[in-house]
Amino acid sequence: MNDNPEARLLAQVPDGLLIGGRWRAAEDKTWFAVHDPATGEVVKEVADAAVADGVAAMDAASDASPVWASTPARERAEILRRAFDLLQERKEEVALLMTIEMGKPLAEARGEVAYGGEFLRWFSEEAAHVQGRYGANPAGTGRMTVTHHPVGPCYLITPWNFPLAMTTRKVAPALAAGCTVVLKPAALTPLTTLVMAQILQEAGVPDGVVNVITTTRTGPVSEAILRDPRLRKLSFTGSTPVGQKLLEQSADGVLRTSMELGGNAPFVVFEDADLDKAVDGAVAAKFRNIGQACTAANRFIVHRSVAEEFARRVTERVRAFRTGRGTEDGVTIGPLIDDRAVAKTAELVDDAVAHGATLLVGGAAIDRPGSFYAATVLSGVRPGSAILREEIFGPVLAILPFDDEDEAVRIANDTEYGLVSYVYTENLARGQRMIERLETGMMGLNVGVVSDAAAPFGGWKLSGLGREGGPEGIHEYLQTKYTLTPDPFAGAR
Ligand code: NAD
Repeated sequence: MNDNPEARLLAQVPDGLLIGGRWRAAEDKTWFAVHDPATGEVVKEVADAAVADGVAAMDAASDASPVWASTPARERAEILRRAFDLLQERKEEVALLMTIEMGKPLAEARGEVAYGGEFLRWFSEEAAHVQGRYGANPAGTGRMTVTHHPVGPCYLITPWNFPLAMTTRKVAPALAAGCTVVLKPAALTPLTTLVMAQILQEAGVPDGVVNVITTTRTGPVSEAILRDPRLRKLSFTGSTPVGQKLLEQSADGVLRTSMELGGNAPFVVFEDADLDKAVDGAVAAKFRNIGQACTAANRFIVHRSVAEEFARRVTERVRAFRTGRGTEDGVTIGPLIDDRAVAKTAELVDDAVAHGATLLVGGAAIDRPGSFYAATVLSGVRPGSAILREEIFGPVLAILPFDDEDEAVRIANDTEYGLVSYVYTENLARGQRMIERLETGMMGLNVGVVSDAAAPFGGWKLSGLGREGGPEGIHEYLQTKYTLTPDPFAGAR
């Protein structure tokens, strides 16, 4: 009997592919290693799916599709609700697992279990509330009926940064709508998804409705699935370049697509902002998930008259952070996902400093096992610095000054991305003007975190297509049918 709780937990995580309700090895019996980014150590090996396994998962999703689509919505709803309840029972172990494989501090992992769980509850409620409409056509010659139907088998691809929430944000609406799925988590963090699949099975999801393939052979496996004529939808969360490639591969099948892609969020602080609130919001918007969130504030655009004070206060907060393995008490900054992420962060910071930015705190990788980069604040970031164009995906808060509202809007919108923006002002009319002027799918006005299962999450421009969550979320998995019938009174009047 193993008395190490982490080892015990890891031993219980399935290591196979889930296909047609059965856990099994990859066809060619290959495996790949999952690491703890805080130590660099291998924590588990899981099955490495080959193309044939992807096809088998499609077979299972396709076979299960007609029965699941015609299962009463209430029944589907209750399975999702049971999954929500089971997740609550296992919340501590799921949180710990996420911290082990992804690195986020345990308190944040618990927050993600709460947030990710909400998608199961929200879509269990939405499942039974899909409505159509019926009425006379304007000419009075017939009756129009509009109904909604599951799109069919879906391929769901998730990233490593929110292993649980990105899974439930896709699986819950798909199942609520009556779709079957093949789910592919990121190879860096497959374990949380495997446990979530186990929970869904336990909640009563029938065999073949949820199939999970873990793989490092992502390109060929995904392409085979995307080119399978039985597939009807792709939902992808990840980087914009990969999303663009998958959109191309989805063109032949004219697949329905939902794309949740990269961001470059502006965080605008006006001279009339409540600076205490702005600093709290900035810390949340920047350092949550060690800066590795698509919604992470990337550019802090601060009015010149308060820029120095804002920088002083956030620097003070950053100096009080504790960096370490996410399981340790009081840790606020965990490791980045891998050494490549550390190198990319270092490159962006060095480039900003070379362009004339001032380094106020941090600014280097931390010399210890694992992939750590120190929480960093830069002020006076100059136009032309790569950090203003690229998604940082690390714990670096970059400040640049502005002089008037028009300039703030111009800088904020000067990006190909449009996922989320944050604005701090106590002036109501100015806040309303910013709602209308900023080109993003979401906005936090005097708020530093916007994610909510009840809200339509998604971006404009290169940040994506479609919305996840909210009443909109289920419609990503439904297709519309309009039926015309003759006027039932024709000849009877
Ligand atoms: P990524 O694009 O490298 O990988 C995302 C997923 O796509 C992974 O499962 C990966 O295995 C898979 N993938 C990679 N190449 C593929 C290919 N050729 N064919 C099929 N699948 C492939 O992104 P990442 O590094 O895992 O995640 C970080 C990115 O995700 C950031 O850009 C971030 O902004 C974005 N993100 C967006 C949202 C959102 O809701 N908009 C949420 C979280 C993360």
